Amino acid sequence: MPSPQSPVPNPPSPSYHFEFRTITRKFARSLVTSHGIWETREAIILKLSDSTGKVGWGEIAPISWFGSETLEQALDFCHQLPQEITAANIFSIPDNLPACQFGFESALEGLGMRNCPMTNFQYSALLPAGDTALHQWQTLWQEGYRTFKWKIGVNHISQELQIFDLLTQALPYTAKLRLDANGGLNYEQAQLWLGTCDQLRKNSESAVEIEFIEQPLPVADFFGMLALSQCYDTAIALDESVATLQQLAACYDKGWRGIFVIKPAIAGYPSRLRRFCQQHKIDAVFSSVFETAIARLAALRLAAELSYKNRAVGFGINHFFTQAEDDTWPQSLF
Ligand code: MG
Repeated sequence: MPSPQSPVPNPPSPSYHFEFRTITRKFARSLVTSHGIWETREAIILKLSDSTGKVGWGEIAPISWFGSETLEQALDFCHQLPQEITAANIFSIPDNLPACQFGFESALEGLGMRNCPMTNFQYSALLPAGDTALHQWQTLWQEGYRTFKWKIGVNHISQELQIFDLLTQALPYTAKLRLDANGGLNYEQAQLWLGTCDQLRKNSESAVEIEFIEQPLPVADFFGMLALSQCYDTAIALDESVATLQQLAACYDKGWRGIFVIKPAIAGYPSRLRRFCQQHKIDAVFSSVFETAIARLAALRLAAELSYKNRAVGFGINHFFTQAEDDTWPQSLF
């Protein structure tokens, strides 16, 4: 019997049985961005089970060229963990492993939760780069998409401006178009694009709405983007500049009040992201990193809570994979 002065012993924290598998999915067509060509998507699927038989699924879907850890670093982290882990293991993942932080905490949050798909979102569909976009948008429009994203900074700017002209004429005026440069423009090119988008708005009230230009300049040119955001009506969204929560908070501190693209799967702990967004009420667009339904559901749960401006979420990417997950997935992996 403990004496009245002795501290009340903490109940032992629950432990979870931990398993993981790597998966590889091939893109239906290779993905072209200004960072290069992407052929396959690799990720790690996590399974946590508690003593009552409840299961929580998590997914580590890094994109190292975007600022997260590499798949190898994430795998090394998983391999060094014991088979039985506790919340203490999960909340001591270092900040240089943000995709691991997301995967493990979302598995913990998801323990016992049913994976119901969420349907009350507007989705933005990613168009292929170049003039293929001119032939693809109709199919996506018929599938119900009203917001589209098109990659720029991939081909020569004069060629892209010509395609842009055709695309904006072809799209119904109720559509919204986002342009994503992936940091591939220089200052003069960004001025040309922003000026062209402003002009489109001025020339015709029935023109398609250019919602924003995403990451026009490289990450190192933050102050260039801040200056541009004050000179044009067309909005700018930061993406590569705000890959992790640390970067997001740093840009906010340096004065960015435009749009933030958040890729929850590489942004670190969901709880920390939630706290930051709730505190600052930032204008956020939630976006995919070509994750499976596991990370997608966890990311969409955050988007549902934190999309204060109700912008379309960037998860319209199923048409980029040949195979959808079936009903036996992910159980069939283990
Ligand atoms: Mg982007």
